[in-house]
Amino acid sequence: MSIPNNLQGFLNGIFALTPEEIKIYEEAFIHSSNDSLPNNQRLAFLGDSVIRLIIREHSYKKYRDWNIGKLTELCKGIESDENFTIIANNLKIVNHMDIKNPPPDINENETLNAEAFEALIGALYLTNGLEQTRRIVLKYLFADIEQFKDDDKSYLNWIKNHSIGYVVNCNRQPNPNYLILHRADCNTISGIPAKGKFWSKDYIKICSLDPNELENWAQKQSGGELQRCPICKP
Ligand SMILES: [Zn+2]
Repeated sequence: MSIPNNLQGFLNGIFALTPEEIKIYEEAFIHSSNDSLPNNQRLAFLGDSVIRLIIREHSYKKYRDWNIGKLTELCKGIESDENFTIIANNLKIVNHMDIKNPPPDINENETLNAEAFEALIGALYLTNGLEQTRRIVLKYLFADIEQFKDDDKSYLNWIKNHSIGYVVNCNRQPNPNYLILHRADCNTISGIPAKGKFWSKDYIKICSLDPNELENWAQKQSGGELQRCPICKP
């Protein structure tokens, strides 16, 4: 493994911007198995705080009528190593890292992946400032709506990390007569599927923290209105 040859290109691909001080990013791609500095731990230390600041500020402003318990529950899920690991995997960050004796289950290793994502965000903050970093952190961690098709792992991760959110279950081609709104913790849309093997194959799952976003989505996609699940009563 080695630091990406074309680091600019890789960063451009995932951030849609061109950082100028590339040296800082080289540090973000050195794992702490390389005992001596530089390695990515100092940047992960910084990035962790930057991510929390952005997520909490956004949650505070977006959900004005939520108490601290609800805000804490939301942020705990979003800021989890598990969630960062999914993003790091999607971005294929660790595949490009300089790691001594990489473990065989490298993509499953949450500490390694979460640190890699945090370090990259720490570097982004140093090179491009808070506003650009906010745009990217919110894009990856706080999308207004997420759709899951053929990706049960990401779907189940979403409902686990957003237990106070909402899910619309609908056909692959959304049909106005079948748009069921559930709470994310409803047992009819989590665990082992009652019918078939997958959650996000015959049906798709549209997820959001805000039921109004889903209502708008349903209107735009199919001209239909959401029907509320009689079991979880959202
Ligand atoms: Zn339900």
